Amino acid sequence: MAHAADREQRHRDRMRRKKAVIDTAIEHADRDQGLLLVLTGNGKGKSSSAFGMVARALGHGMKVGVAQFIKGRSDTGEEGFFRRDPNVTWQVLGEGFTWETQNLARDTETALRGWSVAREMLRDPSLGLVVLDELTYPLKYGWLDIGAVLDDLAARPPMQHVVITGRAAPEALCEAADTVAELRDVKHAFRAGIRAQKGVDL
Ligand code: ATP
Ligand code: MG
Repeated sequence: MAHAADREQRHRDRMRRKKAVIDTAIEHADRDQGLLLVLTGNGKGKSSSAFGMVARALGHGMKVGVAQFIKGRSDTGEEGFFRRDPNVTWQVLGEGFTWETQNLARDTETALRGWSVAREMLRDPSLGLVVLDELTYPLKYGWLDIGAVLDDLAARPPMQHVVITGRAAPEALCEAADTVAELRDVKHAFRAGIRAQKGVDL
């Protein structure tokens, strides 16, 4: 009995200390700011996390812009769902994967044209959240200049949030970001021979 009361007391003490630490941290985080987030790494969950934030933003009545840079397919569930929402501007700016197009000049031209559309979103203060899905690829392959992209990101409205997804995010982009998460690939069903599943993968 005394043992159970002891454990109860220890638990209360531990939780009190934890609450003090969390309360202090919350007190220190007292600013509002448009955030730049980078979701990178080889694990699954980058784009779907970004679209989760789209749902959150819409739930708060915010307007959202989505620009997709590399797109192999046009039948994803998120596109079908969010396109119906009048608060969402959805732009598909890629023409498929580089190993499908196999044309450097055309890829560069497509990426540049795409960036000029994305830049319009970054200049629109009515958009509270902008998702630049798979932007890391045109950066990685050098189709877009990282310096120019960082300049446009820095010049966006101060309260606008931007989420960038894609593998192998350049170091300079991660440095400029406020929040960076790396998804680690532990296991993926595709490697066990299971094709992309609706509702999970597309
Ligand atoms: P998701 O859109 O599911 O969040 P993602 O954005 O993290 O995935 P991408 O590299 O953009 O990953 O790949 C998109 C597609 O590839 C999805 O169908 C996803 O399930 C699949 N995929 C993601 N990571 C892996 C992986 N490590 N191995 C095999 N397939 C993957
Ligand atoms: Mg993705």
